[in-house]
Amino acid sequence: MNLTFIGATETVTGSMILGRTNGFSFLVDAGLYQGLDTPKVDQSEKELDELIKIKELDAIFLTHAHLDHCGYIPRLFRLGFKGKVYCTEETKLIAKVIMNDNARIEQERVKKHNKKITKEKLKLEPFYSIEDVTRAYAAFSTVKFNQSFVIGGVKASFIRSGHILGAASILMEIEAKRYLFSGDIGKEEDILHLPKEYTQEKVDYLVMESTYGDRLHSMESVQDQLKSILESALKAKKRIIIPAFSFGRSQMILSLLTDIFNESKELKMPVFLDSPMSSEILTIYEMSTQELKVDKNHINAMKENCRILEFPKERESILQKETPYIVLTSSGMISGGPALYYLEKCGGLEDTIILITGYQARGTYGYDLTHENLNLFLNEKDFEVRAEIIKLSGLSSHGDQNELIHFAKAYGAEKVFLVHGEKSSKETLKERLSELSFDAVIPSASESVELD
Ligand SMILES: [Zn+2]
Repeated sequence: MNLTFIGATETVTGSMILGRTNGFSFLVDAGLYQGLDTPKVDQSEKELDELIKIKELDAIFLTHAHLDHCGYIPRLFRLGFKGKVYCTEETKLIAKVIMNDNARIEQERVKKHNKKITKEKLKLEPFYSIEDVTRAYAAFSTVKFNQSFVIGGVKASFIRSGHILGAASILMEIEAKRYLFSGDIGKEEDILHLPKEYTQEKVDYLVMESTYGDRLHSMESVQDQLKSILESALKAKKRIIIPAFSFGRSQMILSLLTDIFNESKELKMPVFLDSPMSSEILTIYEMSTQELKVDKNHINAMKENCRILEFPKERESILQKETPYIVLTSSGMISGGPALYYLEKCGGLEDTIILITGYQARGTYGYDLTHENLNLFLNEKDFEVRAEIIKLSGLSSHGDQNELIHFAKAYGAEKVFLVHGEKSSKETLKERLSELSFDAVIPSASESVELD
């Protein structure tokens, strides 16, 4: 087997690994780059095609539906990919929502750009369109967790990785050798999702993510943190604006709020969910309780505890309501979506708490707020943030250093390839694994290795 590490080598995003064995070629994940440090669109698509030969590629194995793992798939179809995409049922449903949303944003961006351009030659084409997503989606083929299937001489099985709904690590057996692609590895103690599983047998080669390779999660209970924020909002009569990622994070917050409201009725306050994508994904969660720690009744309670906004014009009336109340919105980094509206309308008000619930990439308003830059440039104007900024920790859906080491030990691989992490995370994890006698390596971008 020959492996080429294409994406998520020198960055955390843009996951993509090419595998070639006996004339069968496949990708594990095909994600987009995100954030400002890296180009969203790969500048060297020609080089990429030379590497992976898109038209000859046989299959894509998709670990999960985060954009940095699935966001490139419709583009590959646009460029001539004709194979199938293998993933779990839940990943298929969510990937459709995520890819469509990205296509919509892209079409909007191109439309806006082209409006200002008169020369036909200078007009842009969207990176991919809704039609490309529809074509890609038709080629998605679902597999059940822990049930192996054979394609192109590769025996593959998807093992629950506990990271997010539908997420899997992918085990491949090729001519008596076993390869494991971890995908993103979840936490043991996730609020909503079932924990990761392990196969009984060891593997020969492990390709592993290392997002939290140099960090340990705080032990402070996220429910306790949120509860004390609600208490202070109630006391000071403040509104809480919660920008949160639409997939996983919003549903986790709704679940936490439901638990808190059940335990402490006095903290119950109105919750408004203003994120069309979060509500769409909430419906998929509702259909997938077999993959969750909570049952249908709990999901029903989550839905009853919030009012889902259907039209943007409802926003204005929400902000007229008596405080305290909560608005759960997106995007999680305040880089787009309705979160921008709430930042503009309430960010300058002292009776507002902006609750940041996850990692914030450089260049986003969320990054500014969490790095004490409260003098923003918003809608072509200077803007002073006077709202209280609070960070809620503990909602990450990635395992920390101890959990990553536990994962590697459970599989006892002969060689471990570390991907999907900042430089320092990968280097620290490599050191720790080497101390434990693992042969751990950090592949560079486009590096190929021949494994037998
Ligand atoms: Zn992920």
